Order: sequence, then structure tokens, then C-alpha cells
Amino acid sequence: MNSQCEDKNICLNCRSWLDKLKDKIPLSEGEMTLLKKPKKVFTFAIPVKMDSGEINYFDGYRVQYSDALGPTKGGIRFHHEVHLEEVKMLAFLMALKCSLLGLPFGGAKGGVCCDPSKLSQGELERLSRGFIRAIHSFIGPDIDIPAPDVNTNEQIMAWMVDEYSRIKGKFIPGVITGKPVELGGSLGRNIATALGGAFLLKRMAELEKMNPEQTKVAIQGFGNVGGNMAKILNDWGYKIVAVSNAQGGICSQNSLNIKDLSTGQKDGDLPATAPEQCRPIPNHELLELDCDILIPAAVSHQITKENAAKIKAKIVLEMANAPITPEAEEILFEKGIKVVPDILANAGGVVVSYFEWLQNSSNDYWTEDKAFRKLEEKMNEAFDRVWRLAGEKNYDLRTASQILAVERIIKAERLRGNV
Ligand code: GLU
Repeated sequence: MNSQCEDKNICLNCRSWLDKLKDKIPLSEGEMTLLKKPKKVFTFAIPVKMDSGEINYFDGYRVQYSDALGPTKGGIRFHHEVHLEEVKMLAFLMALKCSLLGLPFGGAKGGVCCDPSKLSQGELERLSRGFIRAIHSFIGPDIDIPAPDVNTNEQIMAWMVDEYSRIKGKFIPGVITGKPVELGGSLGRNIATALGGAFLLKRMAELEKMNPEQTKVAIQGFGNVGGNMAKILNDWGYKIVAVSNAQGGICSQNSLNIKDLSTGQKDGDLPATAPEQCRPIPNHELLELDCDILIPAAVSHQITKENAAKIKAKIVLEMANAPITPEAEEILFEKGIKVVPDILANAGGVVVSYFEWLQNSSNDYWTEDKAFRKLEEKMNEAFDRVWRLAGEKNYDLRTASQILAVERIIKAERLRGNV
């Protein structure tokens, strides 16, 4: 096992997963090598004129990991810890995610090493436009389609699609997804990741005969994904017993009133003082709470070999990317905890990105209701395939998901004659 994974998010654990799959699916040496290598890697410096008049250079990355199934697809993150190895790993996860969900896309990821909280709106706009100027020749609706990710949003996508369209001399909405509706975005895209995860949970609760009213849920992260999941699950009758953001959390024996929590709060903010009958809890305690479902929806590597033995939930739904280290996962499995892996759990965002791309190419725009119905269908289809394979072969859900995803990519590569 790769012990580096426990330290930082320098995580090449995709390689160790692939090695573990070797005895479960017949892959030749050549096929293994192909899967372990990103197809194209771009690194570039983005010059940005700061408000002070000085020019700063930011390191930018775009990794197009696999294009076996179609144009590459994946978000762009702005974060001070972004580095090339992490972007490669996230691009690999996107390739698996798109394959598992049956989308006609390969996988990619992009990032800029920066602290967006220290940038003014003007600086953020110039950085976003600079990113597109650096890679415009290598992206396009049929080549590579970026989208939002950590710390990037609809406004940033709007600047990016505008910059690309200016360079090309015409409006090309299909080059970016996660855009505002006014610029060709899809209705429902903003809550798609959360809703996709909630649909999976509903399916799984039915199979496990769990009654929402008696199901206690703890959610780490109160941003776009965690905050929206809390609202959706609360509306569906689940007992949300704890939520948190980066500063800390609140929990209650009964159910938190999510509507009260969100009123008047900025996205991602929790009330400064815990409302009545709630108590403040630190983030690490939230993970160890007595609950049925634990939803890590914040950052990577939250459940490690240090705290895995203390997790009490029966199901962990990975809404963040790689919130569980491989070492920790072994411990969770020994305890009989079911883990719904990130490439399945948080795929709702890219599924509705696919719908957005379809709407852009046909100019036929859908109702929110249609987007949600189609999302539920796609999530359930993928979940049922994973659940069936896991049941038949006695695999955990991550292994079953990876096998299905890798098989589809490899079949396409074989047909193309690349292996
Ligand atoms: N960043 C999201 C993800 O990791 C969405 C990607 C997309 O819509 O292309 O799945």
C-alpha cells in the first residue's frame, strides 16, 4: 500500500488501485501501462496584472487523462495546494467517473495554484481569462470541456466561455459547462452533485430497508455539495444530526432545522453560535458521531488510519473526492461499513454537465424537472450495475465501480487499436 497517501494529497493511489484490480480483470501489461499514463499534460504560467499594477505569475495545469470514450471532461480548481500530481490523480478519477456513468466522455482536470480568497474580483477575472488564453488551442466542445470544481463557480465559467468565444470570434457555449443559465447553462446544474448523491442514498436506503425518519445523517462540509445535500435530505425526512464547515460544526440529538441554519447565511456559512438544543463540535468529532450515514463532502483524506476505527456510521457516502485513504478504507471494511465511492457518489455534477453540453449542441433547452428526472435515471442505472456486480462477486462497492469503469475504457481502447 502507498504510505504517501496518508501524508498529503500527493496521491498516486490510482496506481495502487489499478494493481489491485489486476487479479480481478484480465489486463495485459500494455493495457496497464496505458491506464497508468495520462494522455496529455499541460503546465503553464498565467501572467495576471494585479490591482497594484504588478504582474504575478500563477502555475496552471490541465491534464487530459483519457479520451478513449470521447472528448475529455472535468473541472478546474483554484486552490493554494494544487499541484501536478494531484491534478493527474483527479483527472484519472474523472475518466473513471465518466466511464462508470456511461457518458460519452473521457476524463480531465485542471487547476491553478492560488489562494482565491486573497484575489479581488478583477484579479480573479483576469486569472480565469488567462487560463483560457493559455489552453484555448487544446480545448473545445469536441476536444476537452472544462467545468467548475473547488473554488470555481458559474461566474468564473461565464468569464471563461466569454474569453474562449472572443478568441474564436463566435459564441461557443459547449466548450464549458456549469455556466449561468443566461449563457447556456442547464437548469438544475447548481444542485446536481448534491441531488445525484441524494438519489443514490434513496436507492440504497430502499435496498437496506432503512426508513428515512429513523436514519441519522452527519454531513462534513456545508458548501454547494454538503449544504444542498443537507437541505434535500432534510426535505425527504432524514434526521440530519450534524453539519460542519472548515471552522467547525454543530450537532443535535434530534434533527437540525436546516432551513433555520441556512436562512440569512452565506453559502458555506453556519451560524456563529449554535442554535438552541444544538452543541458545537469540532470536525473530527463529527466524523466519529453515532449516526447511520456519514457524508464527507469537504476535502480529501479526512478519514485516515488514525480515526477509521472510531467511525460508527453504517454507510459512508463519499461526496468529496478521495475523502478516505486506502489504509482507512481497509479498516472500514473490516468493521462492515459500506462505502459508496466518489466516482459514483459525486457523479451528479458531471451527469448534468453532460445534459448541458447536449442542450448546447441541440439548442433545445430542458426544464429543471426533465434534468432531474434524467439525472435520477442515470444515477440509478449506474448504482444498480455496481450493486449487482458487488453482490455477485462479493466485491466492495469501490472495487465493483472501478472494474466497470476500467472495463469500458479498455474495451474502447482495444477497439481503437491502441492496445
Ligand atoms: N468538478 C466536478 C467533478 O469533479 C464536475 C466536472 C464536470 O462537470 O465536468 O465531477
